[in-house]
Amino acid sequence: MNQNKLFKQTRLRLALWYALVMALILSLCGFGIYRAISHAHWMTLDRELESVAGTLHDSIELKLQQPGELEPVIQQLLPNICVVDKSCIQEQLSSKRHILSAINQGNYYVRFFDNSGRLIAIAGTYPEGLPVAFNKELWQTLKDSKGHFYHQISFVLHTQENRDWGYIQVGRSLADFNSYLVAVKLILALGLPMVMALVGVASWWLAGLAMQPIYRSYRQIQQFTADAAHELRTPLAATQATVESALLMPQIDEIEARDILQTLQRQNQRLTTLVTDLLLLTRLDRQPMPMPRDICCLDDIVNDLIEEFAALAIASDVTLTSSVRVSTSLDVIGNADQLYRLFSNLIINAIQYTPKGGKITVYLDRSDHYAVIQVQDTGIGIPQYDLTKIFDRFYRVNSDRSRSTGGSGLGLAIAQAIVLAHHGSIDVQSEFGKGSTFTIKLPFDVRPLDSVRSIYPFKMLYRRSH
Ligand code: ADP
Repeated sequence: MNQNKLFKQTRLRLALWYALVMALILSLCGFGIYRAISHAHWMTLDRELESVAGTLHDSIELKLQQPGELEPVIQQLLPNICVVDKSCIQEQLSSKRHILSAINQGNYYVRFFDNSGRLIAIAGTYPEGLPVAFNKELWQTLKDSKGHFYHQISFVLHTQENRDWGYIQVGRSLADFNSYLVAVKLILALGLPMVMALVGVASWWLAGLAMQPIYRSYRQIQQFTADAAHELRTPLAATQATVESALLMPQIDEIEARDILQTLQRQNQRLTTLVTDLLLLTRLDRQPMPMPRDICCLDDIVNDLIEEFAALAIASDVTLTSSVRVSTSLDVIGNADQLYRLFSNLIINAIQYTPKGGKITVYLDRSDHYAVIQVQDTGIGIPQYDLTKIFDRFYRVNSDRSRSTGGSGLGLAIAQAIVLAHHGSIDVQSEFGKGSTFTIKLPFDVRPLDSVRSIYPFKMLYRRSH
């Protein structure tokens, strides 16, 4: 339960970190988008103002005669023009055509200043309370008495004789620009929490996904430890019981003492085998240093093993033979001890799970890149359901039938680990009640066998007592 809590906490922490990082990235992106939009809009606004002011400047300049004097023709061209100290010309905007229709739209105002910076006239939609102090800076941002902002551009005006006339300033309200930016800000401010909520959900899901393999492998390790402890407990309990019953005996004669010692030795042997197997699997798992590699002749290994297990086969009343289907010898680069262990595990299994009168054949063959070795028996076979599981650690098809043979369920797991360390593959085909065929493919090409290591001499390979 505690571990589950730990995994949940880790998942939550992972999700929070992910969400936090995403929030930061999204906020930065949002800010960047806002800045880009506002900049683009500002540039458009400037260009529009510059073009309106430029057209106005060019049209008016053609008609100017006296410095600081606005010709009547100009006054008629501009809407709502109001000449300082004179009457304002109020006109129906829609009834007249003016120089610039943009001015009619109500966003623009025009101001004329003479050379000394004195305001001469205003036109367009002139905002109330705009500072009248003259400033000839090209671009200015002004604020009226109501707090509204305006952007303004200034140009020098010349008369027809190219004398300095004064200045023209064209400005426009920034109200629509500001309200557009407020709308963008609102969209971002409302959109970001919604996106963050989605990111939160996605983070939780992704954290779960990331934790899954870790959790699975953790559960496997947990299962492995529990199974190993369980397997170790059986011989330990048997040893304990033997010793306790021996201690309760008032007297022990030599025959009884030998019996007890033999039982202890058997249990001890079983423990040693189990610990040795576990150690081998752990070392294969850890991908240790490169192991000693030799050219291993598989024909020799198989023949040695056939000889080695001949007595066991005779005792079990089964026929054990080999069949070489190639003319050349099958040499692979590998660890001889490991390969002996691999094939001996398969042959021992075949002998154990083949009833009397059965037949076991080890075939040696080759394909283009692989040496192919098959261990075929006419034994009890493996049910379809168990075929994918028999390579799992401590898995026994039927714990009763396997335990009676002294098997711990590690034999095929070790075989598979060795094959994988040699970059090969192992497969099984089996028909329940008819027999099984284990097929191993080992590559010929030389590759570093980084996860295989020589641990045991062949004489220590027997893991079961018969
Ligand atoms: P064990 O030590 O129990 O034999 P293994 O890992 O070697 O463990 O094998 C796993 C299971 O696969 C065994 O319990 C056995 O039921 C089944 N098995 C393995 N080889 C054969 C075979 N040649 N014929 C039938 N069943 C087999």
